[in-house]
Amino acid sequence: EMFGQLTSGLESAWSKLRGVDVLTKENIAEPMRDIRRALLEADVSLPVVRRFVQAVSEQAVGVGLIRGVKPDQQLVKIVHDELVKLMGGEVSELVFAKTGPTVILLAGLQGVGKTTVCAKLAFYLKKLVLYIPEEIDVFPILREDPHGKSCMLVAGDVYRPAATDQLKILGEQVGVPVYAPGIDVKPAQIAKQGLEEAKKMKADVVIVDTAGRLQIDKTMMDELKEMKKVLNPTELLLVVDAMTGQEAAALVTTFNIEIGITGAILTKLDGDSRGGAALSVKEVSGKPIKLVGRGERMEDLEPFYPDRMGGRILGMGDVLTFVEKAQEVMRQEDAEDLQKKIMSAKFDFNDFLKQTRTVARMGSMSRVVGMIPGMGKVTPAQIREAEKSLKVMESMINAMTPEEREKPELLAESPARRKRVATESGKTEQQVAQLVAQLFQMRVRMKNLLGVMEGGSIPALSN
Ligand code: GDP
Repeated sequence: EMFGQLTSGLESAWSKLRGVDVLTKENIAEPMRDIRRALLEADVSLPVVRRFVQAVSEQAVGVGLIRGVKPDQQLVKIVHDELVKLMGGEVSELVFAKTGPTVILLAGLQGVGKTTVCAKLAFYLKKLVLYIPEEIDVFPILREDPHGKSCMLVAGDVYRPAATDQLKILGEQVGVPVYAPGIDVKPAQIAKQGLEEAKKMKADVVIVDTAGRLQIDKTMMDELKEMKKVLNPTELLLVVDAMTGQEAAALVTTFNIEIGITGAILTKLDGDSRGGAALSVKEVSGKPIKLVGRGERMEDLEPFYPDRMGGRILGMGDVLTFVEKAQEVMRQEDAEDLQKKIMSAKFDFNDFLKQTRTVARMGSMSRVVGMIPGMGKVTPAQIREAEKSLKVMESMINAMTPEEREKPELLAESPARRKRVATESGKTEQQVAQLVAQLFQMRVRMKNLLGVMEGGSIPALSN
């Protein structure tokens, strides 16, 4: 289990809050010590741990009560959000050049997995793209791009003949051409020729491997600087090994100061790495982790999602989702206000739309993750299905008048109105009726969510 030790270390923190009514300075002292210890044992650097613990403590004591959420669950949520923040918050995507080939220059010490990453990256770029729907803030989806990006690999590691051979073999495996003029040519020269070659071939992306050494030395840095000058890379990524913990973060910092990099790739996250690297790199160096390697196979490279990583570290996705749902309700409207709305049956199609989007986003995200306990894996087809039904609902709601959106009763009572919405949205009357029924079911569910136990009624639609 990835970061298993960290996960169980944190669990002991929550366990000390069972049965507590509210978080106070006193009762969080011991859990905070557990959190501190767990992070240090995971090899997170001390200044980072200090800032983290401070930030969590402050929020924990100041946090307001959320109905139905227990204090230990609240602390889990606060720790989760801080972990995500620590790791950079948002996913940091690869940048692509607007014109000409995108140049990705890879640097790193020997044995970190740099050569493997070259091929994995080509495989990743060829096959998959991160699709982010434009219209609304829906979940990003990994999709197969029928075209993908055409890639070329450049063998710039001339000191280890085996590295060149390895790159050629891997290139063949993933079906990507490898430019390798031999080991008698200077790396900067290879880089220049490689780029020319890529332009001729009209490759979308050219990935340049460089020599790794056992440790940082001047020759290595000078060589990289020269290659950077020649290539003007779109991305200069440092490949670091997750097993090296906070040392990885220190390396990213050094390389960034010395040559200026755009981010890091963290490899070997599948091993028994303790989490220190994943948690420290961004905070220590200011540079994001863009991709992570989680195995030796070509498909074992993926974008680094701080939020998913946070969920995995905590091993508590279900609790997070629950607290988030409760908080979402709190955020959308003042809770009292929403409660009143529901009590007076004012929860309308505008709220429905907001809620549906939220639920869809959380649901699908968690399934894409496939890591949240209690939630099965979902296929891309199912995700597309969910996305499609959301679009269908939206088009029907868009066909409603403002009055109908605010008073769904109008639609429940009038088949003529439902018919009009159906016609305008190009859907069937049955679909509209279903949507209206769903809204009333939602009212009942919302009531339950807020702990208002007297059951609501679902009106039968008149014909
Ligand atoms: P380089 O010296 O940096 O080019 O490193 P290589 O690409 O030759 O990789 C060194 C070793 O690490 C190889 O045996 C790879 O299969 C292995 N490796 C690379 N990435 C990963 C990873 O994400 N997980 C695991 N378990 N092994 C990896």
